[in-house]
Amino acid sequence: MAQPTSDLKTWLREAAQGMGLPRIAFASCEPLEGEKRQAWLEQGGRELFPYLDQTGALEPSHWLENARTAVVAFLPYARPEAVPGATPGSLKLSRYLWGRDYHQLLKARLKGLLALAQERIPALQGRVCVDTVPLPERDLAVRAGLGWKGKHTLLIAGKEGSWGFLGVLLLDVALPPDSPFEGDRCGACTACIDACPTQALEPFRLDPARCLTTYNLETEREPPLDVREAMSRSRWAAGCDVCQEVCPWNRAPLWGDPCLWGGDSPLHTRPAEQLVMGVAQWQKLTRGTALRRVRHRHWIVTLRRILGPSHNSLD
Ligand code: SF4
Ligand code: SF4
Repeated sequence: MAQPTSDLKTWLREAAQGMGLPRIAFASCEPLEGEKRQAWLEQGGRELFPYLDQTGALEPSHWLENARTAVVAFLPYARPEAVPGATPGSLKLSRYLWGRDYHQLLKARLKGLLALAQERIPALQGRVCVDTVPLPERDLAVRAGLGWKGKHTLLIAGKEGSWGFLGVLLLDVALPPDSPFEGDRCGACTACIDACPTQALEPFRLDPARCLTTYNLETEREPPLDVREAMSRSRWAAGCDVCQEVCPWNRAPLWGDPCLWGGDSPLHTRPAEQLVMGVAQWQKLTRGTALRRVRHRHWIVTLRRILGPSHNSLD
């Protein structure tokens, strides 16, 4: 284990700014609330997300031996209200999928920060986690004081809202943690719960078996009939932003990191009926974006759900 230095935390904050990580905070790696997550797995999460069901995988120490500090980064990716070049009849994609793949960008910046820190303290061990392991980044972000868990279950980073990516750098050195965010600032608001097209939300709890993102990003499983109908009506083909679009904390426009901006895409600008394409075309179109994780076969399954199985271009 590396020896802590009194000014390492201040130095890391300054170095992070230079690496394009404007907002970081520090949390301890004490065990998280494993019981709650176990209950969530038993209530259907295990079936839909089998990769989350690894013993101890939700704890930082599973991913870095002697993990003591989690440096949590929030990287805004805010988008304009209007989809660039959108035409009537086009499909809807979550804003975070419009631009360059955030995994690559955030991972590279956090790895750069680790490398700089290791130049300063050669014995320091660290590990970067950006969505690639089932670490509960949101819970660590709350513990680090970056924001609170909204009723839609996403992190709200104060006036920066919820349009942002989270990444974690685990370190084997104990640094003084920041104060956790206590409570929430949702108040009496229920806008996200009321607007959800599938009634997947209750306060601070999301039912993954009813959320559109489960079926258009995570699994090809057949959704319940009313969820399938909601997908067809709402035309969300990859992700769903409804619960964030209505959130008052997202009202102020924010542009986020320019490296994450996307431009016009055929996925926005063409009518859905023209988006039936072969594997090679799909791979070309999604190269370098986070949409790459959606397999072509899954994309066609989603199109069938939105356009109807009898649509002739899907035969
Ligand atoms: S992402 Fe869409 S379907 Fe899922 S909880 Fe939010 S509004 Fe509901
Ligand atoms: S829409 Fe309202 S209730 Fe939902 S997360 Fe935002 S502030 Fe909280």
